[in-house]
Amino acid sequence: MNPLAERATTLTPSLTLAIDAKAKKLKADGVDVCGFGAGEPDIDTPQHIKDAAIKALQAGFTKYTPSSGTPELRAAIAEKLKNENGLDYKPSQVIVNCGAKHSCYNVIIGTCNPGDEVIIPSPFWLSYPEMVKLAGATPVIVPTSEENGFKITPEQFRDAMTPATKLIILNSPGNPTGSVYSRDELQALADVALEEEILILSDEIYEKITYDGTAFSSIAALSKDVYDLTITVNGFSKAFSMTGWRLGYIAAPEPIAKAIDSIQSHSTSNPTSFAQSGALAGLKGDQSFIGEMVKTFAERRAYMFDRLTKIPGVSCVKPMGAFYMLPNISKFGLSSSAFCDKLLDAQKVACVPGIAFGSDAYMRLSYACSMENITKGLDRIEAFCASLTK
Ligand SMILES: *Cc1c(COP(=O)(O)O)cnc(C)c1O
Repeated sequence: MNPLAERATTLTPSLTLAIDAKAKKLKADGVDVCGFGAGEPDIDTPQHIKDAAIKALQAGFTKYTPSSGTPELRAAIAEKLKNENGLDYKPSQVIVNCGAKHSCYNVIIGTCNPGDEVIIPSPFWLSYPEMVKLAGATPVIVPTSEENGFKITPEQFRDAMTPATKLIILNSPGNPTGSVYSRDELQALADVALEEEILILSDEIYEKITYDGTAFSSIAALSKDVYDLTITVNGFSKAFSMTGWRLGYIAAPEPIAKAIDSIQSHSTSNPTSFAQSGALAGLKGDQSFIGEMVKTFAERRAYMFDRLTKIPGVSCVKPMGAFYMLPNISKFGLSSSAFCDKLLDAQKVACVPGIAFGSDAYMRLSYACSMENITKGLDRIEAFCASLTK
C-alpha cells in the first residue's frame, strides 16, 4: 500500500530549502559560510508593528477572527490598494491569508480545474508550478530571454495559449529575475489575456522594492476589463519585513474573493489574530523605513552587479526590482546544481542553482545580507570561477 496521494509524490522538494539546510549545518559546525540564499529582508520588523501585536496579545485579542481577516485590516488594505495602486476594491473583495504564498495557493486551488493549463514564465518563483500541480492542473512553462530582461512577450504568451489555458502568473518585480514590467508591457500582455479571457494572478509582493526610478504598475489598474480578470496578490513579508508573521492577501472580483474565503474557512481559517493587529499598524503607521531599506538594497545591488559582471565567464542582466541577482554561469560548462555544490564545497559560498527556478544557466544570489557577507562572498566566487577556467 502506498500511503501517499499521487499529488504528494509529484511534488519537487524545495531546492532553496535544501541548500539553506546544508549551509546552516556547515555554519553550525563552525564553518565560515557566505550565504546568499536569503529570501527575506535582513532588517528586523519595525518596532511600532511589534508593539501593536504585543498590545493586541495583552488585550486578549487571541481568539478567532473572521476567516477572511479582521474588518479593520481588510478596510486598511482596500484603502492602500486604492491610494497606492489605483485599484478599486471593496473590503469585501479583500481576503487576508497566511502569507502571500498561501494567497497564491488559494488563488490557484480556487480557480484551476484538473486539466486546466497555467502559463508560468521562467525563471519562476519555485512554488508556482508545484501549486499548479497540487490543483491537478498543468504548468506550462514559457522560457523568457535575457535579451528581453526575463519578461514574457505578448507573442510568447499567445503561442503558449491553448483552449485549456485558464490562468497566467505574473510576478513583477520578479523573484528570482528582478525584472519589472512597465505599464505598456503589462497592457500588451493584458490585451492577449482579454482575447481569450485568461485569468491573471498578479503577485505584487515586491512592489515597493524597485531601483533607478523604475515605476511599479498594478496590472488590474489598467482597465475595468483587466480588473475583472485579475487576482491581485500582495502581503507584508517583504515591504514590512514580516516573513515570520505569515500575512498576505488577495484582492479580486467578488465571486473569486468569496470562493477563496470559503476555501480558507475550511482549511486554515483566519490568519493569526494579533499578527493582523501588527499588520494594521504597519499600514497605518510611518513607512519611511521601507525607503531606507530599499536604499540599502540599492547600494548592495550596485556593488554586487559590478563585481559579478567583472568576473570572466559570468554575465548578468541588471535586476530592476526585488533583492536578487541571477548571473549566467553556463560558460563554465557545469549544471547549475553542480556549480553551486562545488562552490559550497570549495569556497563555502551558498547560492541557489537556477534549475530550482526552471533555468539551469543561472544561479541566484540574494543581497538581503550584510555588505561584509557580499564582499567576502564575491571574493570567493571570483576565486572559484578562476579555478574553473584554469
Ligand atoms: C516571498 C515571496 C512571496 C510571499 O511570501 P510570504 O512570506 O508567503 O508572504 C510571494 N511571492 C514571491 C515571488 C516571493 O518571493
